[in-house]
Amino acid sequence: MAAGATLSYSSYRTYLECPLRWKYLYLERRPELPRGYFTFGRVVHSVLEELLRPLVVPLARKRDGGEAQTTLHRWSDAPEAGVGAGPAPISEEAMLALYDRAWNSEGYTSPEEEERYRSLGRDLLTRYRARLARDPPRPVAVEEHLETRWDGIPVHGYIDRLDRTPAGGLEIVDYKTSRELSLEEAVSSDQLSLYQVLVEGNYREPVERLTLLHLRSLTPHQARPRGPRVLEPLHQRMGEVADGIREQAFEPTPGRHCARCDFREICPEFREIPAADGPRLASLVDRFGALRDEERRLEGELARTAAELHQAAEQLGLHRVPGSHAVAVRRKEVSWQYPLEAVRPLVERAAGPGRLTGESADDVRRLLRDPSLAPELRRKIAETGSRRLRWYWELEDRDASGP
Ligand code: SF4
Repeated sequence: MAAGATLSYSSYRTYLECPLRWKYLYLERRPELPRGYFTFGRVVHSVLEELLRPLVVPLARKRDGGEAQTTLHRWSDAPEAGVGAGPAPISEEAMLALYDRAWNSEGYTSPEEEERYRSLGRDLLTRYRARLARDPPRPVAVEEHLETRWDGIPVHGYIDRLDRTPAGGLEIVDYKTSRELSLEEAVSSDQLSLYQVLVEGNYREPVERLTLLHLRSLTPHQARPRGPRVLEPLHQRMGEVADGIREQAFEPTPGRHCARCDFREICPEFREIPAADGPRLASLVDRFGALRDEERRLEGELARTAAELHQAAEQLGLHRVPGSHAVAVRRKEVSWQYPLEAVRPLVERAAGPGRLTGESADDVRRLLRDPSLAPELRRKIAETGSRRLRWYWELEDRDASGP
């Protein structure tokens, strides 16, 4: 799987967080312990799928060659949703019976916790169904698996719900069973961005909205589709993840996320130290810590002494100060800084795009020496710069520095 891994959002996130955990999960396919909130989310998603399925009117998807598949029905041919003539969701009783059958007790920490989740699920599904009956959406797909190649990166994902909008576009809806959810999450969600790419790769209709639906409050948090400014950096990051997987770069990356990782027992970051080596290693760590403290103390003292020497040398106008064993020589380093946001428009207005080839001060200073630029332009560029001066001390051997 590693060579040409097809990335889902969760596999991408897992690799970013810890490549070794990705390897355990996706390459070695080691199971994780069940967790109640994941089990709960899966059960609720499966019931929602059944609840919505009667409302689905499929829409043609692109074929590989760009051809549209034959559409089974078109919304324009279907009875108008919401006016009582269209397909209806299953009854509340049937839905709750389905919920009971789908219920799974795996991963809850106590019977009380399980019962709390179970009654939460009943409550939110009942309210969701009532909303659905009053104001039915126009789904073209539920729990749909989509794949595409995103400029060379194979990606895939399951879309909870894909709706037709009144204007004829598409709305991607992702259900969230979490306690809290904000609009900001919908606006910045990489998961929704990836779903947009998947839908655009498979459907002809434009994506008009990206929605996170908070199931506990039935609040839709809606965001606009992403443009290149958001998608390009995500594509870049996903490309780096794909490269890392291809190159089998699976270094452990410990952090707070280790607290919920099921692989700590086999992870080298948490490997037990053999009893015989414990005392020796502990004393090395203690010595290392003490040296670090000493290093910090010396760094502070060094900076204060250099500053004091500098102040005295400034007052006396000196550059070389002899000590008992060495001579301290004061040196200066000059650097320039240019605000690119000011320089770039100046250059582009006067000389066209492409003249400023990099973003460093050296790139700007190269322009200042470029005889093909008008002197007036070079003067204006030079005026934006600020000069930085840094003094530092070097020690010379007293004998070597001579009389
Ligand atoms: S314990 Fe931490 S470092 Fe080790 S695999 Fe899990 S997440 Fe990665």
